[in-house]
Amino acid sequence: MPQSYIPLSISLKDQPSLVVGAGNIATSRIEKLIEAGSIVTVISDQVDPRITQMVKNQKTQIKVIQKKYESIDLSEFKIVIIATNNDQANQSALSDAKKAGCLINSAFDGLQGDVIFPAVIKRGLFQLALTSQGVTPTLTRLLRGWIEARLPFGIENLANFASENAGTIKKRFKTQQRKFFWQSLFHGIAGQKLMDGDKLSLSDVEDLIENAEAHTQKGEVYLVGAGPGDPELLTFKALRLIQQSDVVLYDRLVSQEILNLIPADAKKINVGKERDKHLVPQGDINQLLADEARKGQRVLRLKGGDPFIFGRGGEEIELLFDQGIPFQVVPGITAGAGCSSYAGIPLTHRDYSQSVRFITGHLKNGTSDLPWHEYQYGNQTLVFYMGLKSLRVICEQLILAGKPKETPIALIQKGTTKDQKVWTGVLESMADQIENEEIHAPTLIIIGEVVKLREKLAWCG
Ligand code: SAH
Repeated sequence: MPQSYIPLSISLKDQPSLVVGAGNIATSRIEKLIEAGSIVTVISDQVDPRITQMVKNQKTQIKVIQKKYESIDLSEFKIVIIATNNDQANQSALSDAKKAGCLINSAFDGLQGDVIFPAVIKRGLFQLALTSQGVTPTLTRLLRGWIEARLPFGIENLANFASENAGTIKKRFKTQQRKFFWQSLFHGIAGQKLMDGDKLSLSDVEDLIENAEAHTQKGEVYLVGAGPGDPELLTFKALRLIQQSDVVLYDRLVSQEILNLIPADAKKINVGKERDKHLVPQGDINQLLADEARKGQRVLRLKGGDPFIFGRGGEEIELLFDQGIPFQVVPGITAGAGCSSYAGIPLTHRDYSQSVRFITGHLKNGTSDLPWHEYQYGNQTLVFYMGLKSLRVICEQLILAGKPKETPIALIQKGTTKDQKVWTGVLESMADQIENEEIHAPTLIIIGEVVKLREKLAWCG
């Protein structure tokens, strides 16, 4: 049975603490003690340079006694941290600390202390402490990472706003309305503004008050980039907005794993487009977003990659803007960035490429009015989106424009997902090379010398 601990928060401001040992673990504990305002004494025969640096830094209250620990009276110390790798020194410090009645923290198994340093998640005033009762710190740290990802960074601003305005809101509203006010603030765009560090305008606050009085929620739209497929490539903000949405409009590029993150009770609408057979015409999507928001819904428009890169995001928000519907846009990792990383192809490289172009391969009338001559030069990487169908034309046009026939080219299918597949070749023969292969959308094309680096750098399919 692990020893059982209860979490307490302790103030160590101006309290003396002793750290026996000065290696890695000791250093991280010392940093925490100093942050807490403790006056730290370190006893150790060897001292990590970071600690020496702290001593040099006049602002920190730290004293180092460079010698091996030998039994002394520890009663002046509030807390003793035992962190040497010398058994004898550890045992001796443990028994001295017990005798002196200090709080004891031990970094060693089998040397039971009575306090542990939890993994801490901080958001301004808020602190969340996590422990596994000292049993598995590694898993605790992992858990911290997961929880970190879920907690908005600007949450302290919300708390400040709430504490500054609690009195006014309490006077103004009855309980139910008050609850509604705070909910619509915390979940909505006004709350997001606060978290981003902006101030609320008078009209933002009036809107919230009006809504609370009318007991209606003003709808809003989140235009969110879902990245190229791997759900772990979502941004923190994207995940949070996904989880608070009432209605979701998504398209074909959004992976199933990401769709699984949508709340079960949210209304899901597939407006996915396949090339040349649009399921829902763009104009209707724009209007649908506005209509749902007007009903008071929090509408999530989830797009593959980044909404502003070949995503028609601009058109969608233009209509919202015209109709006075609040919206926010959350960028996502675009396919060019995601697929290239997962295929081991850096888009730029000091030796091979000094610029990148994102180009649409959706060619009007078979060829296109693309400025092919600009693409002939080396030292640049060309990334074609929506180019699979026009692959042959693209390669031919580039060669015609003067690009060497042996320029390397890669096709990346379903990049960043577990079904990612990559083909590499050269401009002259790529279209023939894949003629009998089954390649499906979405596929990205990367052209340039950087493709060669894949041989060394590929780490993932
Ligand atoms: N807004 C999106 C692009 C939409 S255009 C973004 O920023 O990524 C659609 C094209 O993107 C597809 O035809 C394909 O070329 C590319 N694409 C998107 N996701 C992809 C993926 N996971 N793997 C390969 N290509 C992808």
